[in-house]
Order: sequence, then C-alpha cells, then structure tokens
Amino acid sequence: MTNIFDTHAHYDDEAFDADRFALLDTLPAQGVAYVIDCGCNLHSCESALALSARYDWIYAACGIHPEDCEAFGDVGALTERMLPFWKSKKCVAIGEIGLDYHYDIDKPTQLAFFEAQLRASIELGLPVIVHDREAHGDTMELLRKYRPKGVLHCFSGSAEMAKEAVQLGLYVGFGGAVTFKNARKPLEAAAAVPPWRLLLETDCPYMAPVPYRGKRCDSTLIPLSAEKIAPLHDMSVQALLDITCRNAKTLFGIRASE
Ligand SMILES: [Zn+2]
Repeated sequence: MTNIFDTHAHYDDEAFDADRFALLDTLPAQGVAYVIDCGCNLHSCESALALSARYDWIYAACGIHPEDCEAFGDVGALTERMLPFWKSKKCVAIGEIGLDYHYDIDKPTQLAFFEAQLRASIELGLPVIVHDREAHGDTMELLRKYRPKGVLHCFSGSAEMAKEAVQLGLYVGFGGAVTFKNARKPLEAAAAVPPWRLLLETDCPYMAPVPYRGKRCDSTLIPLSAEKIAPLHDMSVQALLDITCRNAKTLFGIRASE
C-alpha cells in the first residue's frame, strides 16, 4: 500500500513517549505518505509543530479542543495567543476544534471557543478539523453559519448529515470506527459521501481498527479502515488511498511536489 494520508493523528500523545521517533521513522517505508498531527491545547500544539519540523511529511493542525477550552481560560485572548501557531508554515489547519456534549463541559464556553476559531478560519483562509461528539445540531448550525473549508473528523452522524456536510463544501473523515461491530451507521454515511470528499484518519493512539481495537493505533492501520469503505464505492483499497490522499492535499494546500 502507498499514499496513506492520515489526516488526524496525535503522535504528541504520551502513549508514544517510549518509542515516538523510532515508530515515526518506520512509517514512510510502510506506505504512509503524510500525517496531520492535531494539537488540542497550547502544549500539544507546540508538540505538533515540533514534530512537523522534524519530519517533512508531518504537518500540524493547531487549535483548542472542547475538552481543553475550560483550562485555556479567557476566550478573548484566544486569537492573539493562537496566531503564532496558525501563521507557522507547517500549520495547515485550525484543529482540533468543535463541540463535545458527551462530557460535562460548559456549553457556552465550548460554543464560544468553537465560534471564535471558525471566525479565525475564515479570516486566515485555513481549513478547520472539527470534532463533533453528540453535538450534531449545534455543530451543523455553526458550520452553516460560517461555511468554513474543512473536515468533520471521526464522523458519527447520519447519512443525511454527511450529505449536508458535502453540500456545504466540507470533507468527511472516517477511521477505525467503520471496522467496529456496530458500524452500520458510519458505513452508511461513508457510502453517502462521494469519493472526492472522503478523508481517512486514525485519531491515533485511539480508535484502532479491528482486529487491533483497544490497542495503540498508528497510521499503518489505515488500510484496515479503507478495506471497509472501498467496496462501498466499487474501488480497490489502493484506489481509495490514492483519492483520499489527493483530497487531503487539496484541502490542506499541500502541493504535489511536497
Ligand atoms: Zn483527535
């Protein structure tokens, strides 16, 4: 397999502390062409940028995750503090940002952080990487309002919602969840998204596909998810890897020669 583009990874996570560079060094030889490492708070955004400086095939996304917005503090200071990250050459997206109603996080705070970062995405012309957990209604309402470029990552909505996201110009990201036993809904959604709007991802170290579910995930496991999605579009796994790689390069503005 070649052209694996992992559009959502967290190699800055402590799960990789013991062997981070040893593991990353092996990825290109296993077909991994690009990785986007997503920061969630100031510290992990710094780590994501450091990884992107060390490896030319790793890019960074920088943003404040809904789980990290309470610890960040004043939303009024957000843009000024994040601007140096967002202006970095290898930062290709604002993310991971969004809404998480699964956990008990203050809703007005989450909404304020998401909205401020959507506004920044429009002003800076950067795509967004959106986390939406049990918050489909409010997420779509804000995406309709701002119409950013971007991706709904680890998509968990319905086929109808996926179609609306595509109509809004968004990409839809799928990972290990499409291999799980209860995957009917994500597979229906993946079938409803045209191939030119699909992205593949891991969310590693989490969300390892079957048969590695529950273990530490890395980008080399993406073909296991691709195996579930490719037949929905009558294509080979490699053809899906090729087109999703091209999609990601288009969305994140990575030139063909890079
Ligand atoms: Zn993530």
